[in-house]
Amino acid sequence: MVGVEHSDNPLVVDISAYILTEYVPAKPLESNLEVVFSTTDQALSEKCGQLNCGDNLKFPFARAGYAPTAVYIQDAKELVVADAATETKRVVELSLNISSLGEFDYEPGDTVAILPSNDPHVVAQLLHRLDIVQQADSYCLVRLALNCAKKSAKVPAHLPTTSAKTPREILTDCLSLHSVLQKQFLSALARCTSDSKERAFLASLSSKQGTNHYQTLILERGLCMLDLLELCASCQPTLALLVEHLPRLLPRPYSISNSPLECSKQMLRIIYSIRTHKAGVTTAMLEAKIKQHEEQLQQPVKLFLYPRIQNAFRYTDQELTGNQILIAVGTGLAPFLGFLAHKQRQQLATGETWLYVGAKTPQAMLKQQQLLDWQASSILQRLRLCYSRSSTPEEPKYVQQLLEEDAEQLVELLLQPSTILYVCADGAKISKSIEEGLRRCLQLALHLDEMEAVQRLKELRTQGKYREDLWL
Ligand SMILES: Cc1cc2nc3c(=O)[nH]c(=O)nc-3n(C[C@H](O)[C@H](O)[C@H](O)COP(=O)(O)OP(=O)(O)OC[C@H]3O[C@@H](n4cnc5c(N)ncnc54)[C@H](O)[C@@H]3O)c2cc1C
Repeated sequence: MVGVEHSDNPLVVDISAYILTEYVPAKPLESNLEVVFSTTDQALSEKCGQLNCGDNLKFPFARAGYAPTAVYIQDAKELVVADAATETKRVVELSLNISSLGEFDYEPGDTVAILPSNDPHVVAQLLHRLDIVQQADSYCLVRLALNCAKKSAKVPAHLPTTSAKTPREILTDCLSLHSVLQKQFLSALARCTSDSKERAFLASLSSKQGTNHYQTLILERGLCMLDLLELCASCQPTLALLVEHLPRLLPRPYSISNSPLECSKQMLRIIYSIRTHKAGVTTAMLEAKIKQHEEQLQQPVKLFLYPRIQNAFRYTDQELTGNQILIAVGTGLAPFLGFLAHKQRQQLATGETWLYVGAKTPQAMLKQQQLLDWQASSILQRLRLCYSRSSTPEEPKYVQQLLEEDAEQLVELLLQPSTILYVCADGAKISKSIEEGLRRCLQLALHLDEMEAVQRLKELRTQGKYREDLWL
């Protein structure tokens, strides 16, 4: 059965409840692509994610001169233990040997992109469903179908057109198996379904009349293709149909969480959090690689990454003599650990640094002892921590409450010419709440009305004094 991620949490959907009596299925896309198996032997290529696909494949936000490169896991440390009672996610710090990247100059705040791959078990089950287990490791190419009438049709660059890959590699490296299903895809899946009830379910979901059901199941509950294959056992699509409809498996960004001065330039660290249920594709892959690293210490375990373009969310030589206000929630602390380690090692760093961090519980606060040590050694002039699951009513639970408590002094520091405020949070909702907290601070300290404070925040952004890193 496909959809292993539901093993702890079975997928329960009564498909009969979503079959309409009257509907017009969405018109499926014309099929433009076909998969052809190669008859000649192919030179073995280094399996590296989406490299060796189309020659024109671009890697989003790649820094000039860098392509995805194999780097090696050096160490993995659990920073936070998952806790179901407080819905705390496991957090891991990964040290990577990046000597293969060559001369790579990075600064605190920079990010790298990791190439994900889909879970091999899910891929194996999918190959079974597509009934191509025998050909799973034979080389194939994707090309325009001979009867393709669409003049503008092209094979997407993330699919192999010249140098061959196997169906297993295409499903593992190239296609996003968890993407939001388009109605045309649902309609095409219905056409490959032999059971009449299952076919009617998929076709209803694809129809205009089924928009409410599409909203509930696909957009709100987030059912993906794997879930639908689990629900519709008689649906048997072809590989060509999947390459036609599934989007590219995109690289995911991660913040570098150390200073280049802290360790040799051959090394960098990232910190990631992983959900216990329905873990994401990349984080699940990283977990599997860590397990492999722990089991086979002799053999290095690799993953593919590339440096991303730098932006203003950085702590560079220019900022050394200025002040910083750092605001983070949860794993959002990761880049600031790099800022602070950098400041500790820079004689020239003379400014004030204030850090505000929120976590669910004290156990979920990343590197709490290190933060206290930085406070004790005056790397941090102010450290304010809060816990959203705190049961003490008088304690602030959210960073925006801490900001408001400090409103007068915070705004005074913020308005100094050399001060930069950095916010790092995973999700638009958290950063919005922080922005509202900052707006209230400006109102309180400068006696502004709401509109004036909003305008002031806008100006701070434009001046580069308010910088955000949002992990959407
Ligand atoms: C500039 C930038 C820097 C980033 N830096 C970091 C970093 O340093 N550390 C870090 O952990 N992440 C960071 N992220 C987020 C990261 O890129 C991934 O989005 C995240 O790790 C989930 O990837 P995935 O492939 O495992 O999940 P996907 O398969 O893409 O996830 C599918 C769905 O599950 C949700 N999801 C998956 N995992 C989680 C999770 N752990 N918490 C909440 N929701 C989740 C996602 O919102 C998504 O809707 C950053 C993002 C950006 C844009």
